[in-house]
Amino acid sequence: MVKTAEVLIIGAGVIGCSIAYHLAKSGCHDVVVLEKDSIGSGSTSKCPGGIRQQFSTEANIKLSMESVSFFERFEDETGHPADFHQHGYLMLATTEEEAEIFNSNVSLQRQLGLEIMLLSPEEAREIVPCLDVKDVICATFCPTDGYADPYSVVQGFSSAAKRLGVKIYEDTEVINIKAKEGQILGVSTSKAEYMSPVVVIASGAYAAQVGKMVGLALPISPLRRHMFVSAPSDKVERNTPMVVDFHTGFWFRREGQGIIFGMRNPDETEGFNTSIDWGFLPVIGEVGSHYLPFLKDIGIARGQAGLHADTPDAKAIIGKVSEIDGLYLACGFSGHGFMHSPAVGKIMAELILEAKAGTDISCFALDRFKKPVSQKERYFI
Ligand SMILES: Cc1cc2nc3c(=O)[nH]c(=O)nc-3n(C[C@H](O)[C@H](O)[C@H](O)COP(=O)(O)OP(=O)(O)OC[C@H]3O[C@@H](n4cnc5c(N)ncnc54)[C@H](O)[C@@H]3O)c2cc1C
Repeated sequence: MVKTAEVLIIGAGVIGCSIAYHLAKSGCHDVVVLEKDSIGSGSTSKCPGGIRQQFSTEANIKLSMESVSFFERFEDETGHPADFHQHGYLMLATTEEEAEIFNSNVSLQRQLGLEIMLLSPEEAREIVPCLDVKDVICATFCPTDGYADPYSVVQGFSSAAKRLGVKIYEDTEVINIKAKEGQILGVSTSKAEYMSPVVVIASGAYAAQVGKMVGLALPISPLRRHMFVSAPSDKVERNTPMVVDFHTGFWFRREGQGIIFGMRNPDETEGFNTSIDWGFLPVIGEVGSHYLPFLKDIGIARGQAGLHADTPDAKAIIGKVSEIDGLYLACGFSGHGFMHSPAVGKIMAELILEAKAGTDISCFALDRFKKPVSQKERYFI
């Protein structure tokens, strides 16, 4: 039997679930979310939950500021705690060029109303006493940044959406998207056929594969990212901010009884491999020990790898597809999807239900890739 829905969402990660929640909250209850695995099992489950407002583009700063205000009231909104800790983000510059970038971005961030401090290395050390600042030229600190628990957040969005009537089907893979004469008709899945005038691609690192089902080329690369959790250690204090080396992308913070840390691998190649490359751990140890001298010798409790969904300008693809009526995109989050999920959910609901988002999202349009990339997000970690 063919089923119907007002809106079909492909992917029950934090983005798909936030969109479903915001649609239902705005009165659109006939929403179906189709998930090939289980709720939140994709990149959302592999993310350390960092939430920062320090970006180089106005649009990303605004998405973050709106999302932080939602995370602050997450439990009131969804009935589920987000485990949001506003211990801040401390960003470290180690070259003169990076110091200049920090200076100009702090002006933009302040213009937009963000509370942000530009610090000397010594001032940075006052905030994080275990930090070795010999390589640091300057730092920025935003006290309202922080981190939340991705599992709690995706459960909060999905359970609140379900209470409002949304249906989420797990173990249901979308295998085809149907369109005719430039209009979306529905999707075929491993379990059933669905008809709907609206389909949203919120499929994380798999979005380019899903786009191909309807002849759409999405410039989204799946790239493996690692993080490791140390054995119990009290060397990093409990209320320590998320600390990020802008140059290498090395980051760390306290997690439970230990330290959680990670870094981008410049040699990583595109693909869906999420096995752990233990050979990369000593490379992170080498870089990280510049900031935490004890890191090389610390015991490791566990590691994990997940997928980033990166675009050429490190900005998400959010909006309506101009060539196919009824097809919407919320993908290519380039490492920022968790933190931006509240604002993106709201924007997508406005776009679908009112045909216009309340915020200017033109810089996230797919059509921008028809020309060479112009404004890149520089705060890509
Ligand atoms: C190591 C690491 C660190 C990160 N750190 C941060 C951070 O600190 N802060 C931050 O904001 N972000 C971070 N990210 C990025 C963040 O995890 C993602 O941006 C976010 O989870 C994206 O959510 P999503 O819902 O778009 O994707 P996902 O969570 O991947 O959800 C997409 C879902 O679509 C499903 N799907 C795909 N294809 C189909 C299909 N054909 N049919 C049905 N279902 C399908 C998948 O199974 C998946 O569950 C990090 C990522 C990694 C890997």
